[in-house]
Amino acid sequence: MLSALTIDLEDYYNASVFDSIYQRHHWPNLESRVEASTETVLELLAHHHIKATFFVLGWVAERHQNLVKAVCKAGHEIGSHGFHHELTYSMTRDHYRQDVRRSKQLLEDLTGSEVVGYRAPSYTITTQSLWALDILVEESYQYDSSIFPIHHDRYGIPGAERFPYVRSTAAGKILEFPPSTVRLLRRNLPVAGGAYLRILPYAYIRWGLRQITTIERKPAIVYFHPWELDGDQPRVTMGLFSRFRHYTNLTKMRSKLEHLFADFEFGPVRAVAQSLRLSGAAQFDYGR
Ligand SMILES: [Zn+2]
Repeated sequence: MLSALTIDLEDYYNASVFDSIYQRHHWPNLESRVEASTETVLELLAHHHIKATFFVLGWVAERHQNLVKAVCKAGHEIGSHGFHHELTYSMTRDHYRQDVRRSKQLLEDLTGSEVVGYRAPSYTITTQSLWALDILVEESYQYDSSIFPIHHDRYGIPGAERFPYVRSTAAGKILEFPPSTVRLLRRNLPVAGGAYLRILPYAYIRWGLRQITTIERKPAIVYFHPWELDGDQPRVTMGLFSRFRHYTNLTKMRSKLEHLFADFEFGPVRAVAQSLRLSGAAQFDYGR
């Protein structure tokens, strides 16, 4: 079973946990570490012969154009992570449209290929912001990976589908690739990305992904960020819980990913879409 490996390409300070600490006009003055941490990721993926999807933040792409080109040249799929890392439900529809249009255009200009995939900052397509899917279709995106079927303080639609599916919107169809969860005690529990992947024991991650790929026979959708492999990033004062969520196990992430890469088969979202051939998604160009 081919699962999707996805990386949200952003600098450590772009993460939503810093929204109350830094404003966007502070970003240019902070020490950027995204090139080194992404190069670590690229080396790791090359070593394991894995291609992935990188959802690139437009703001980062504008400042690190050669980095985006290098990711693309290494054979990975480029998707959009929006432009300014704003939470979907905090934007007006017009503002959102400008954000996803600008990032898509920039990434296409840099790579010379069409960008069809999108992931909202912090998974913030929720019941309050489902209108975003209509706009994504209108702006020629073909798939989304933003609806997390769990309870969380910032995101999630707990009853949403757990596996890739075709979603109808007023503007047309879009493929949805939800980040992976496991069913335990009649709840969906996250298993495959970000802080969960970094903090929870590998035995749990492996059990969860085996449930999904072997028992349920579905692809897993795994995600992480380059900054999660950067144990030397500057430590910023913040609340205890946020600190725990952002900084725990940064130095152990690499070996956890290596276990994951040895135990499961991964590819970019586009390849998983192709392997599934979801019916009804006729507009998806499986060929590229
Ligand atoms: Zn992000």
